[in-house]
Amino acid sequence: MKQKIIILVCAAIFAAGVIGSAWVLLSPKKNTVNVISDGKTVRTIDLSTAADEVFTVEYGGKTNTVEIKDGRIRVQSAECPDKTCVHMGWLESSAMPIVCLPNRLVIEFADADGGVDAISE
Ligand SMILES: [Zn+2]
Repeated sequence: MKQKIIILVCAAIFAAGVIGSAWVLLSPKKNTVNVISDGKTVRTIDLSTAADEVFTVEYGGKTNTVEIKDGRIRVQSAECPDKTCVHMGWLESSAMPIVCLPNRLVIEFADADGGVDAISE
């Protein structure tokens, strides 16, 4: 009987941990995003205070045009063959950074950990 209770308690703690970490992953508490080009952070932007802006990030002669609008950020257009980064749209989750593999560009929430490494396209 005691063992059953222990197992139940363990299961409850485990479930709470899984739900808790999923919640943390999917709901960014901070609005700070890093724009990373070739592994180097070129811009750190606080979306909660950022003014609307369009800027370009260049890598190897190819540019990505990044748009900040209404406290959101996206890749507006890009000189890359697949345009995956453009199709990803607005950055919404720290679990899903915007990545342009050909141009080595990553846009992610600053509190995301290991998001870049998880990408294998
Ligand atoms: Zn791209």
